[in-house]
Amino acid sequence: MLKRFLVFGLILNSSLVISHSSFADTAKLESVEMKRDRGFDYLDVYTSGWSEAKGLLLENKLYIDFPGTVIDKHFKVLKKKSKRIYEIRAEQKNKDTARLVVTLKKNIDYDIVNVFGRNKTVVEIGDRRNGETTRQFAWETKNVKKKAAPLKPVKLAPVVSEVKDVSLRHKTIVLDPGHGGDDPGAEGRGSAPEKELTLKTAQACAKLLREAGATVYLSRNEDRRSNLRDVVDFANRAGADIFICIHYNSSDSTKVTGSETYYYNPISRHFAETMHEAIVRGIKEKDRGLHRVGFYTVKYSNMPAVLVEPVYLSNDEEYDLANSSSFRERLAESILKGVKEYFRSRVR
Ligand SMILES: [Zn+2]
Repeated sequence: MLKRFLVFGLILNSSLVISHSSFADTAKLESVEMKRDRGFDYLDVYTSGWSEAKGLLLENKLYIDFPGTVIDKHFKVLKKKSKRIYEIRAEQKNKDTARLVVTLKKNIDYDIVNVFGRNKTVVEIGDRRNGETTRQFAWETKNVKKKAAPLKPVKLAPVVSEVKDVSLRHKTIVLDPGHGGDDPGAEGRGSAPEKELTLKTAQACAKLLREAGATVYLSRNEDRRSNLRDVVDFANRAGADIFICIHYNSSDSTKVTGSETYYYNPISRHFAETMHEAIVRGIKEKDRGLHRVGFYTVKYSNMPAVLVEPVYLSNDEEYDLANSSSFRERLAESILKGVKEYFRSRVR
């Protein structure tokens, strides 16, 4: 077995080898070739054997993991000037996963294609399609100004049976299903607006979290509009360990798809990363990244807080997903996984 850990680093401007070793049975991460074409940056990544690369976009870093791979001692990056990419380096994430770390100069969208049979992975990097955060801000500004009926939060006690895992025992979690009442939120091609889908999603999450031993509060459990200020005050007063705001996204372009996660305060960063990864891996839609944005709920809450936007209702396929209970079930499982992973990793 591998005794010593292997790290092999390379920076775009100066190839810098930190240390290395190798592994007989695993594939090698051999090289990265940067290309530019049709307004995109491309990374052609070569490995000595098959590895299904997985990406994760966390703010200005794009991580691409190659399971079953170690960094080759001759690993190199053939660089090109890029207005999006600052540097590319490789690190050994754990004993059998090599990771490319792409540091970005600006917001991007990306796609990964694993070219089967050629041991090649193509990463396409383009400018991020924007505009969605503006919409959320506009909604918030309107919401906090408008009077709403008093908040009617619902407390849901843990549902603990002997056979169940109780890893969330003694945890208090506040879920805020976005929109409600005369505020439908985003709309898609079907009859269920965002307010209905966020409530159903929150209820599915609540069920799983309670079964894992948590006490769950829903900021609303009916079709009712709430004021964000009341929601945040409530989460703070309830002494929640974590706070999750559930929304669905919308864009002027019906082509924009994928999962986004938002946080603001530094205490939320680790939770937000864990949650974003769990959702991206769990629902397997496009990874639109973790972003730090001062949305009201995540900015003014005292505990680790995230705002999730799992898919876009403005895209027909993703609307249909959000509108299906099997998808919401999968999403709730992913959120549960993110919560568990967060508390587990904090204990270590
Ligand atoms: Zn929303």
